[in-house]
Amino acid sequence: MFKSLRAPERLFQIAGWGVTLVFAGFLNGLGAKIVADLPGVDGPLTLEQFVDSSALASNSTAHDSVKLLQVDVQSQHERADLVLTASTNVYHSSREAFDNWIATRTATTDPAQDPEILRRTRQLDTMQARQRVAQAAVEALDTRQLELQQRLTAIEAERRSLTDAAAGPYSRAVFRTELKAFGMRLALTVPLLIAAWWLFTRKRRTQYWPLARGFILFALFAFFFELVPYLPSYGGYVRYAVGIVLTAVVGHYLIRAMQRYLAKRRVVERQTESERRQALGDEEAIKKMNANLCPGCERPIPGGGGPQSSTNFCVHCGMMLFDNCTACSTRKNAFYRYCPSCGVPAASFPTADAGA
Ligand SMILES: [Zn+2]
Ligand SMILES: [Zn+2]
Repeated sequence: MFKSLRAPERLFQIAGWGVTLVFAGFLNGLGAKIVADLPGVDGPLTLEQFVDSSALASNSTAHDSVKLLQVDVQSQHERADLVLTASTNVYHSSREAFDNWIATRTATTDPAQDPEILRRTRQLDTMQARQRVAQAAVEALDTRQLELQQRLTAIEAERRSLTDAAAGPYSRAVFRTELKAFGMRLALTVPLLIAAWWLFTRKRRTQYWPLARGFILFALFAFFFELVPYLPSYGGYVRYAVGIVLTAVVGHYLIRAMQRYLAKRRVVERQTESERRQALGDEEAIKKMNANLCPGCERPIPGGGGPQSSTNFCVHCGMMLFDNCTACSTRKNAFYRYCPSCGVPAASFPTADAGA
């Protein structure tokens, strides 16, 4: 592919991009530093900061004491369970022994008058009474456990109502903080965007464009990475609204640019072939020819437009694309200043001797 730019010019272009990127990088670093050091922003808020602290403290004290009591009652309960099991076992085994003994006694004498039977029966009654006492102790501890559990539930409900009461002020404070952070970022970013827009529209063709381009990249970076993520959401409304507005603005400028381009092309297409040829820079024209586009109307050249094709004129606008050297008759690109075969200045460039 033919490169019409001089080699050093290409190097300067690459170096220009280097300057642009390095400049943008340093500006970004500085901008991030300034944003990070903004006062009073980004203090992380927690829900606990908005709960009534004395009520919360007494609530957790009550909670802890009930928990301690629960542990205590639990161990008492375990001991009472052991006592109950032991007394039940003693009663049952004694009862079994008594039943066996009475079975052997029944065959011999009248059991109702036997003092031994009365003694053993009283013994069994005492054992049963002990078992009932142990049972009652276990039941009392059951009641105590239930009562403690209910107190704990009440305490936890109170804690939940305390945090629920704090939720409103907390979310309002979070919203205010977000809005403040966004406002400060907006105040920093909007001037950057305005300056970038001014540079883009006014300084695009100047020699300081690589620096201006660096500043524009920086402003875009600041917009997309330092401002957009901090947009208050309002449940997504703001983000969509900003997206719609930005798309509308970009679309508006795109349509205007398209219309300007078409108007310019219409003006150019009304000119004569030689007027248009004069207005074209030869390097620009050769670049378009290499992209198989007519330099006059920017439509594709039918048949590809290469040196081997037979197309000499644009079929859309009549621009001469290929001609023959006046000296050696070699077919050549009509925008070459000199014949590539014999070096004679091209007839269509009468001032070619003056140099580029
Ligand atoms: Zn054309
Ligand atoms: Zn020639």
